Amino acid sequence: MSKKIPVGILGATGAVGQNYIYLLQDHPWFEVTYVAASPRSAGKAYKDVVESKWLHGANIPAGVANLVIEDANDPKKAVGKCRFVFSALELDSKDEIKALENAYADLGIGVVSNASAHRWTENVPMMIPEINADHLAVIDAQKKQHGWDKGFVAVKPNCSIQSYMIPVYALMKAGYEVKRMFVTTMQAVSGAGYPGVPSLDMIDNVVPYIGGEEEKTEKEPLKIFGKVEGGKIVNFDGLKVSAQCNRVPVIDGHTACVSLEFGAKKPSLAEIEKIWEDFRGVPQELDLPFAPKRPIIVRHEPNRPQPRRDRNEDKGMAVSVGRLRECPIFDIRFVGLSHNTVRGAAGGGILNAELLKAKGYLA
Ligand code: NAP
Repeated sequence: MSKKIPVGILGATGAVGQNYIYLLQDHPWFEVTYVAASPRSAGKAYKDVVESKWLHGANIPAGVANLVIEDANDPKKAVGKCRFVFSALELDSKDEIKALENAYADLGIGVVSNASAHRWTENVPMMIPEINADHLAVIDAQKKQHGWDKGFVAVKPNCSIQSYMIPVYALMKAGYEVKRMFVTTMQAVSGAGYPGVPSLDMIDNVVPYIGGEEEKTEKEPLKIFGKVEGGKIVNFDGLKVSAQCNRVPVIDGHTACVSLEFGAKKPSLAEIEKIWEDFRGVPQELDLPFAPKRPIIVRHEPNRPQPRRDRNEDKGMAVSVGRLRECPIFDIRFVGLSHNTVRGAAGGGILNAELLKAKGYLA
């Protein structure tokens, strides 16, 4: 019998759900034993619903292809079939997602979510494990509040911020205050789910609007850089962010052009490169299976990073940075790139779950 931890995927038929299934197929700790989606898909074999829209090349992993899809709105169906679920649901309202994720936790099933519904719940950690592994501590307050024994909810942030949060944090950790940040993102179409933006809106075009994205890009870093106090996360108030988010005709890989203003102490460009190259976080210290060996890869070529060439670095989990130079308005500027459906979605969720296991939350 398998000793792996049984895992469910809510929203298993969507873009992020499919990526979970693809990335988890040979995972050393977790095994997908349960798949759920909308009532439209429920009752059918996974392969019959997904075959025609499978996004990952060759074949649907054999262990999942014949699983029967359950209705994600009925958490009782998951009891006894999985220890925790990855939530990749897209419902009409955030309140619905919040209530549903809580209902799974009520039944003793942990929830590691990609949805934005719980990102602003004060005792729900919004994790980038290289930055805020200590935020898991608020799960104890969450369990106490709801009377949960084995259930919990942890979330990951928006995919748009992944390409520069670890590089910015590395500078802060090295003692350089970052006071203001200006970000312009160029975001891949896979970030809009399946089937996503209509091709006639996207080919030969750039769309300078992604609903809700600029607000998330400006606010989420403040919670991630926040600290745990009295069982909740108190936002960091020392950074101001201005964001412009654009959809571009790239399949995978979000790129961001970033300018930073430091406090009184300013690092040289050579120091910044060294800080980035040397940076390691808790996932690297714990040697978690999905942790990239080097979380930040510094490119020196004048025309890198590029989505097609750099998005798959270290299983799609490393962030690539380049074009580091001085900024005539702020202090420095650079370009960051990360794989939005791996580091920014399913891979990031798997890393969160690995951290939760390593810290004893999946016992
Ligand atoms: P998607 O491709 O539209 O997939 C949505 C999933 O939700 C499908 O499995 C769908 O099942 C299910 N669903 C829809 N209506 C439902 C209902 N009424 N009841 C139960 N299940 C229902 O979306 P996605 O891009 O994978 O995104 C999933 C979540 O991850 C979203 O919350 C999104 O904001 C977040 N996210 C996405 C990305 C990304 O890069 N795409 C990155 C970070 C976070 P059916 O197939 O049966 O309709």
